[in-house]
Amino acid sequence: MKLDGACAEQLRLELRGTVAAQVPLAPLTRWRIGGPAELLVRPADRDDALHLFALVAQQGWPYCLLGGGSNLLVADAGVAGLVIQLDAVRLLEEPRPACLRLGAGWPLPRLIAETVRRGLAGLEHLAGIPGTVGGAVVMNAGVAAGCFGQRVQRVLVVEDGLARWWSAADCAFAYRDSALGGRRVVLEVELELAPSTSAELAARREAALRHRRQAQRVGWPNAGSVFRNPPGYSAWQLIAACGLRGERCGDAQVSEQHCNFIVNRGTATAAEVLTLIRRVQQRVAGATGICLEPEIHFLGDFGAMDDANS
Ligand SMILES: Cc1cc2nc3c(=O)[nH]c(=O)nc-3n(C[C@H](O)[C@H](O)[C@H](O)COP(=O)(O)OP(=O)(O)OC[C@H]3O[C@@H](n4cnc5c(N)ncnc54)[C@H](O)[C@@H]3O)c2cc1C
Repeated sequence: MKLDGACAEQLRLELRGTVAAQVPLAPLTRWRIGGPAELLVRPADRDDALHLFALVAQQGWPYCLLGGGSNLLVADAGVAGLVIQLDAVRLLEEPRPACLRLGAGWPLPRLIAETVRRGLAGLEHLAGIPGTVGGAVVMNAGVAAGCFGQRVQRVLVVEDGLARWWSAADCAFAYRDSALGGRRVVLEVELELAPSTSAELAARREAALRHRRQAQRVGWPNAGSVFRNPPGYSAWQLIAACGLRGERCGDAQVSEQHCNFIVNRGTATAAEVLTLIRRVQQRVAGATGICLEPEIHFLGDFGAMDDANS
């Protein structure tokens, strides 16, 4: 569904944040790929966001959320409806010792720097993961040593215009997955951390960054791991074993350095990335019977490229 002209006008009148039409989304994604947002809306703060979601529910406008764009493939045709970015929702409070309440717009790397500064342990092993707090909750971002969801106490979720605190159990955190996202918007989150010392946390954060620099030196724009690891396997090993290292479709390429990354060698399109994803899935399924599921999310209309999310 496309929006009518009155929508932008009403949003500009009622919100304190910004409302802009036909905004190119490629620069807002780590892959640097994708067409424009019909309307990009960035509420000014938490209350502005609550007002926006109430309006959206009332009017039935189609919408989706964009965090740091680090785990997303945006369609070449762009995204119809509202694309909402909560980058200005940046509350940070410590309501009780070792508990942080945060707005969804906090960049994860800056949050980790802040926890190190405050001597609060629990996130430092996630250093180097890009994106926002909202995206980290939805994706349950993590590494072998642990996931973001393990530190979540509760999440302020807006659904159908209504805000309600969800417990960690309600969020159903799983491997790179949760019950959130889609129509369920993460607005704030409360984290339970553990007291430590800044010096110790800084050392652990540096070790995590060092490991990442060695393992993920891919050199081109990318969205991290494209596929989830199937139970008992590493996606990158399956892809490498099928001879797909360096496989190309236009400027989209299976990374030579890390086979579970697809890199944009310059002017890759979303269609090229999706074609490569399908090719990798078919070759791995043909050789091993294992179906690789995308870890990345898809925004927008992929048209004849069928159901991108499967
Ligand atoms: C170089 C690189 C390395 C990476 N390494 C890792 C890693 O080690 N571990 C890991 O887990 N991930 C990794 N990632 C993937 C990515 O960084 C994480 O998934 C991150 O948490 C996504 O956050 P984001 O804000 O960028 O979300 P986006 O990519 O913008 O969005 C992801 C999904 O969340 C939704 N969303 C975003 N914000 C909200 C919100 N507030 N409310 C509701 N829905 C929302 C979007 O609609 C979309 O469906 C890596 C990515 C890159 C580029």
